[in-house]
This record gives sequence, structure tokens and C-alpha cells, in this order.
Amino acid sequence: MNKMFENALPVLKRLEEEGFSAYFVGGCVRDLLLQRHIKDIDIASSARPEDVQRIFPKTIPVGIEHGTVIVRHDSVSYEVTTFRKEDEYKDYRRPSKVWFVDDLKEDLSRRDFTFNAMAMDTSFQLIDHFGGREDLKREQIRTVGDPNLRFSEDPLRIMRACRFMSVFNMAIEKKTIDAIKEKAHLLKRISTERISIEFIKLLQGEQAGDVLEFMKKTSVLNHLPTELQEKQNERYKDFHWNTLETDEQRWTAILLLSDVSNGRAFLKSWKLPNHMIKKVGELKAAYHIDAWSKMDLYHYGLEMALSSITLKSAMEKKDYANVKEQLHQRYSEIPITSRKDIPIDGEDILEITNREPGIWLGKLLEEMEKKIVDGELTLNTSTLKDWVKRWEP
Ligand code: ATP
Ligand code: MG
Repeated sequence: MNKMFENALPVLKRLEEEGFSAYFVGGCVRDLLLQRHIKDIDIASSARPEDVQRIFPKTIPVGIEHGTVIVRHDSVSYEVTTFRKEDEYKDYRRPSKVWFVDDLKEDLSRRDFTFNAMAMDTSFQLIDHFGGREDLKREQIRTVGDPNLRFSEDPLRIMRACRFMSVFNMAIEKKTIDAIKEKAHLLKRISTERISIEFIKLLQGEQAGDVLEFMKKTSVLNHLPTELQEKQNERYKDFHWNTLETDEQRWTAILLLSDVSNGRAFLKSWKLPNHMIKKVGELKAAYHIDAWSKMDLYHYGLEMALSSITLKSAMEKKDYANVKEQLHQRYSEIPITSRKDIPIDGEDILEITNREPGIWLGKLLEEMEKKIVDGELTLNTSTLKDWVKRWEP
């Protein structure tokens, strides 16, 4: 059995010793069957949060109101969630009430898609009430129960269906597609932040281009935070989304492909955090640098420079591995990473020159920094002091 499941087994066994039932559930079981990388192991149990906290020495109460407690075991975190049954969804955000039921099947039935609604017991026997394994084999996405009902309950599931389609390279079952068309308008009620998270995960998938096209046809794009529908063009479909490495690259690609004039406003409408908006702004500027000077590299840093080349490769469908190598080389020749690495500072300069502080000092520092970066001045205290003495404003 997979090592991650083996490592988690003692947690389930311990719960059983205490008289509770416990199962591996959700994404980890799906990813095991798909032989994909398993991110984390989730456990569902009849034990209540207070039981879990009592039984295990190290726990973190992350979402008691949803019945979730993190158990730390051998330095790994496991989310243990009490079996749940949700009654109606009132505000399209969170279930209005969570009941704890002692029934695994009930818990699995509230999950979104058949392949996310499987469990595995402590002997690694699969529990599959809704045909998840069969759907994985047929590579099809199907909701647990009536898709119209399930999408009405929680329209975010529409975005999740698109995400799984893109990432797992799967098709969506016909009835589920019809329900997506019918319920897409409900996405307006989902918070933009949650939609953004699913949207960017979708762009990581192999099928991102096709799925964007699918979202256009089913009018899902119409109900996303911005006017992506009008912006979306052929270039989206052919773009090699899965060659990108980071979310800032993905958002920058969206901007570049869509000819958005006000990038900041566009990203704000997706409710992206400020640090992301800032990074996208920098990456977009870096992307437009054609020949990287040492000073550019020093200013943006190696990581941002390489990131812009990855983006360029995807935009132009060219392999720029050699450019990346050159940048690595050029960057390694720059003797400093910031002004702090220069052995003399403003105070030393005032002392050497015997001048009153003024704007000249900033100019001198800037010039000295540039000469060091370009290799015209060596990073040696007496050399720098001599240069300062000779400097003329
Ligand atoms: P990832 O690989 O991104 O972690 P995941 O399927 O594990 O994908 P999570 O958001 O971690 O997604 O959710 C864990 C499980 O909870 C899912 O496998 C699914 O069973 C259930 N789930 C998550 N979101 C929903 C939802 N909106 N409606 C119903 N069930 C959901
Ligand atoms: Mg998960």
C-alpha cells in the first residue's frame, strides 16, 4: 500500500480501538486510484471533535463547527472530520446546519462527484456506493445524485466540475453538462474569492484550453467575475497552460492573452490578494524586457527573470532553456544582491567627502551600485573609497 496511507493507518486504528469507525475519504482515495500525487490524507469518523481531541495527544481545532480537527501524528497533519449530513444550503456559502450522523454512506452522499465520494477502510477495502471507480475508469465526471439539485445546492460545484475536467483530462457526463448549462447563472451567488481559487486550479490542468472553450459554450464564463467572455479568444484554447509553473504566471498570461487594458482593475475584480496583484504587475513588466541587462536582473531578481522566460516560452511556443541558462550565468556574475552587500554606506561617504548630506548622496549611491552590478567597480572597500573621493556630481 501507498506509504502515505500506511503512515496514516495508526490514526484510524486508534479511533477504532476507542470504539469509533474511521475511513480514508475523498480526494486521497480518488488520487490513489488514479495513481496521482496524493496531497493529503483526509479521514472521516464517527468520533466527535471532542472525542478526537481527547484521544490524540496532539490536535489542532481547525474547524470544530464543521466537525474537523487536525490530528498530528509522526509530524504529519491529518484532518479528521466527523461524519456529516448537511441540510439545505441557505446562503450558497456554507451549509446552514451540520448534523453529525453515525453513517459513512450519508457522509459520502453529500460529496460532489462520484469519484470524490469513495472511502477506504483500515484493510484498504474500497467503499464505493455511487460508482466512483467505474466513473474513473470511464473518465467521466458525474455528480452524486441529481446534478440539477446538487448544483443548485452549491453552484461552486460547477467550477469544481470544470476544474476536474481540466486537471484529470476527463469528460463530463451528458446529464451533468445539461445541468451546468441550466445552473451556471447561480454562480453569481458564489463569492468571487472561492471562484478565483477554482479558476486558477483549472488553469493548471492539461485540458485548460479546451475547458475554457467548454465554459464558453455552456455560458459558465458569462457568470464569472469579469467580462472574460468578450475577452476570451482563440488564443486561450491553443495556449499551453500546463507549461506554466505559478499562479502569477497564469494570471499574467490571462492578462496578456486578453488584451486587458487596466490589468489592476481586472485582477481586483477577481478579488485577488494585493500581493498577487503586485507580483503579476512585476511579472508583466519583466515579460516585456527583451534583453536582460545585469541591472535588470539585479532589479527583478533571478526568480522573476526566469519566471518571465517561462511565460515567454508558453506565449511564443518556443523553448527558451538556453536563455534561462544565460540568465543564470549572468546573475551569478553580479557581486551583490542588494545595497546592504556594499561594504560602505551613506555615513562612510559623508565622512570621506566631508560634504553636507543632500540629493547628491542618493545619486552617488545609485551610480556606485550600478557600477558594482555591471562589474566596473570591484567590491573592495579601498577601491570604493577611492572612487567616492574622485566622484563628481
Ligand atoms: P484537491 O485535490 O484540490 O484537494 P479535493 O477533491 O480533495 O481536491 P477538497 O476541496 O480538498 O477537494 O475537498 C475534499 C473533499 O470534500 C472532496 O473530495 C469532496 O468529497 C468534498 N467536497 C469538497 N468541496 C465540495 C463541495 N463544494 N460539495 C460537495 N463536496 C465537496
Ligand atoms: Mg483535498
